Amino acid sequence: MDYSEIMVRYGELSTKGKNKKTFIRQLGDNVARALHQFPDVEVKARFDRLHVSLNGTDSAPVIDRLKQVFGIENFSPVMKVEKNIEAIKAEAVSLVQDRFQPGDTFKADTRRQDKDFPLDTYKVNDEVGGAILANVAGSSVKMKQPTITVRIDIRMDGAYLSVDNIPGAGGLPVGTGGHGVMMLSGGIDSPVASYYGLRRGVKLDMVHFFSPPYTSQQALAKAKQLTSVLAKYSGGINFIQVPFTHIQEEIKERVPEGYLMTIQRRMMLRLTAAIAEQRDALGIFNGEALGQVASQTLESMAAINDVTTLPILRPLVSLDKTEIIKVAENIGTYDLSILPYEDCCTIFTPPAPKTRPRIDKSRKYEALIDVDGLMAEAMANVTVTHIKPDENFLNQDEDIFAELL
Ligand code: ATP
Ligand code: MG
Repeated sequence: MDYSEIMVRYGELSTKGKNKKTFIRQLGDNVARALHQFPDVEVKARFDRLHVSLNGTDSAPVIDRLKQVFGIENFSPVMKVEKNIEAIKAEAVSLVQDRFQPGDTFKADTRRQDKDFPLDTYKVNDEVGGAILANVAGSSVKMKQPTITVRIDIRMDGAYLSVDNIPGAGGLPVGTGGHGVMMLSGGIDSPVASYYGLRRGVKLDMVHFFSPPYTSQQALAKAKQLTSVLAKYSGGINFIQVPFTHIQEEIKERVPEGYLMTIQRRMMLRLTAAIAEQRDALGIFNGEALGQVASQTLESMAAINDVTTLPILRPLVSLDKTEIIKVAENIGTYDLSILPYEDCCTIFTPPAPKTRPRIDKSRKYEALIDVDGLMAEAMANVTVTHIKPDENFLNQDEDIFAELL
């Protein structure tokens, strides 16, 4: 089918009253950015819905991109025809014929914005229904839950017909929910937590800690590749890499083994909070889920949280691992996350970290390292890269091969 446009219906934002204008403008920008590689496509954000004019562009790849834009409830590829009943009938018949399967039922559902159109909505439904019954063998009308609904919108500039209603990604347009930083490792959880943060409209910068030479270039490339996959949901993401080697070495040398992990996490969080403040971000997201590993008990969270007053958001807090994996597969991060490159935490994790660390002891042991000096050193060596969708940082085949040798 050579569709003329895609009609996009807004999600939750249509209930947001005063903010509606901002939401619509942001969604329009996000859709335009998501479709930037289609030069002939035009995006117009209107009060009631958003119109994507295809101008001859194939609809299938455009539909795939739209499915990843948050703030869209659903959308329909539509055909524009001349505003006369014969043209409308002919197009309706052809749309239904194209997809008809034995047993299908249908109804015509007309809206009329142009009140000067000579036929009212009942009459249009009637005429279109009659034409379909006469021309599509085996078809029958059903008013309640038909398998095919032919939507006819009679607007000022033409008549628009559609038979598909494709679910969108839901959520809120990225950029309407403020600015946060995400602690992104190379694991399964934090990319999924990022997805949920973006889905609520928050613009996220990724903060990633790496520890060369203990961690490889591939581990860093993997985190960047994950960011590129997530960038499909937001148009582009800043990736902030923070060198963590010296801090980990100092902790390893001075802190008792049971508190190695807690103090490392406290330092990570301190640095993330400092980066958030520098960039005017108001919250920190991470991939923790309660009870999953030693660092993710309530006691441990309290001991780590102690270093900042910024809100820490944990979108996965109540999910089971199997649920998280399912989402990771759906959003396309799972296969990357399970690549074997170790990140900086696994390497310095002691065999038996304390599952119930105490805040007073955490403070005491942390005083054994030069917190301010190490922070300043790491902050001075932070680098920021802007990562776009579909960038390639990892030649997977080669790397997996090298890993096996
Ligand atoms: P993930 O799958 O996200 O790595 P996890 O179950 O392995 O999570 P942890 O390793 O305990 O859990 O990490 C908890 C959270 O701390 C991660 O979800 C992530 O938000 C943050 N984190 C861990 N390692 C790093 C890192 N190298 N850089 C940035 N953030 C990290
Ligand atoms: Mg991890």
